[in-house]
Amino acid sequence: HAKEEKQGHFAFYTEGLLQKVSRRLELEKQLRGALERNELQVYYQPKVDAKTNGIVSFEALIRWFNPEMGTVSPVEFIPIAEKASLIQEIGFFVITEAFEKLTQWQRKYSDELSMAINLSPVQFRSGEIVSALESLFLQYELNSRSVEFEITEGLLLSNYCNVEEELKKLESLGVTLTMDDFGTGYSSLSYLRQYKFDSLKIDREFIMDLEARESARKLVSATIAMAHELGMTVVAEGVETEEQKSILVASKCNFLQGWLFSKPLPAAEIDSLLEKESFK
Ligand code: C2E
Ligand code: MG
Ligand code: MG
Ligand code: MG
Repeated sequence: HAKEEKQGHFAFYTEGLLQKVSRRLELEKQLRGALERNELQVYYQPKVDAKTNGIVSFEALIRWFNPEMGTVSPVEFIPIAEKASLIQEIGFFVITEAFEKLTQWQRKYSDELSMAINLSPVQFRSGEIVSALESLFLQYELNSRSVEFEITEGLLLSNYCNVEEELKKLESLGVTLTMDDFGTGYSSLSYLRQYKFDSLKIDREFIMDLEARESARKLVSATIAMAHELGMTVVAEGVETEEQKSILVASKCNFLQGWLFSKPLPAAEIDSLLEKESFK
């Protein structure tokens, strides 16, 4: 009887695992054709200046709507894209869409607007990203200073070849480099020593705790002070409440982003937002 139970347990466990594996395989299969079928779309989330609350920048965030799988979160499909060598193609799509929109918004509203794009170090693998960017900057007549790349610190750990070299090349293009999800990786501080970043993005995990925990407030304000000391600017992600905002403003955080200001929106809705903003 005991054996049966164990087998039952084993079978149950295996089933869960199988479900996971088959979902992963199905997602990978669907993802291969997603670009061609126009299922991928880029949303944009505003980033505001903490002092003026005016929109200064956007973060490009990919969305996937698949007729069979429904809406799939990038948290789930980006890692699959990275392993299945699809991230280069998908990443290039995001970059070109974002460049296109930024060019339009700069012309229509303000050439001070900038764009942040999430970059996976796996995209460095081909060694072609920097030259591809050089041609895109020319093609879109964009100043590289108005483009920012957000790189998740957790991914710096993985030994994708030449991360350091590729980051240096990116830096030499004149783009802004931001360490995303700061504080959640294994050795946030050692990355700061090893790589040169212009800006830190404090992870939502810390922002969420600001109201309830004094330790979080101290940690965040010390992080901001340290970043400033090192010549970096600071962005807070996932700001949802007025109270979080005032704590961050009091701690001299430079830029804020989160649902308090706006959720990520399709480009057309960003246009409506920008129409309402008063630009000189
Ligand atoms: P991330 O770059 O750290 O982006 C922040 C995530 O927090 C986004 O989730 C955003 O929609 C969400 N968010 C923003 N404000 C709030 C808020 O106030 N409250 C809450 N609860 N959430 C908020 P999303 O869009 O699902 O993206 C998840 C992750 O997927 C991103 O984390 C990024 O690592 C990755 N990702 C998204 N688009 C791309 C892309 O084009 N390329 C790459 N390589 N990764 C991407
Ligand atoms: Mg990001
Ligand atoms: Mg982030
Ligand atoms: Mg995050």
